[in-house]
Amino acid sequence: MTNIITHSCGSRWTDKRTAHCAACHRTFGGTRAFEMHRKNLTCADPRTMKGLAKTSDPVTGEHVWRRASPML
Ligand SMILES: [Zn+2]
Ligand SMILES: [Zn+2]
Repeated sequence: MTNIITHSCGSRWTDKRTAHCAACHRTFGGTRAFEMHRKNLTCADPRTMKGLAKTSDPVTGEHVWRRASPML
């Protein structure tokens, strides 16, 4: 059974490893991806970052930013 996790902003995701940013309300595939968008205590736009790729949660269809390469 799939648990859908919902944040107060309305974002929904299903993967327990997901890291949701309470500042910019973007959703990330994991702690490493989340940390990549945090720069000097602010949020970088993942669209400007080569290391992050936009994917979708298989259940909610919402955007999830993941590391483009596990090697990064
Ligand atoms: Zn953020
Ligand atoms: Zn949120």
